[in-house]
Amino acid sequence: MEKPQITTDGVPLATESAAPHGIDEIVRVFGNIQEYIGPDGRLAPRWQADFLATLNLPFPLRLAWDSSRTITRMTCHRLMTSAFASAFGSIQQRGLQTLVTGFGGCFAFRPQRSGSKLSSHCWGIAIDLNPESNAQGSTGNMSAELIDIFRSAGFEWGGDWQGKVRDPMHFQFCTGY
Ligand SMILES: [Zn+2]
Repeated sequence: MEKPQITTDGVPLATESAAPHGIDEIVRVFGNIQEYIGPDGRLAPRWQADFLATLNLPFPLRLAWDSSRTITRMTCHRLMTSAFASAFGSIQQRGLQTLVTGFGGCFAFRPQRSGSKLSSHCWGIAIDLNPESNAQGSTGNMSAELIDIFRSAGFEWGGDWQGKVRDPMHFQFCTGY
């Protein structure tokens, strides 16, 4: 699979990709979200208008928090549509859709559950899959094939983190954060 290259001007390149490393690079590539957080702690709707996009999914995803519902579109950072499309396209091409049992969210404005800094979900560059069986801090049962597909698309897997921050449901397009 070709890895999508993210650049600061939003033009995908065909060469080897690298996810941004650390908060300074994340802000430089994906936007300075602090400028969009008001004194009341709320995120301005302008953030979504300036940086986020809607991705059409190649197959429906069941909502982890309401298994009676599925989604066919997802909100993510506008520079991430090709990376997410690449990962989900690969899942479909390999006939692995049934391995995705629950969608736990992509863009969400929230602090990290294990700390006070902003979650990578705030930029729409992270996704939680199968949270019902991959709780934070647990070993979980994330499919090795899904891990491989998201890694190939440039994502870091939260299941590689150690201790209570280990997050096997979580994939993010950044490192060192
Ligand atoms: Zn997550």
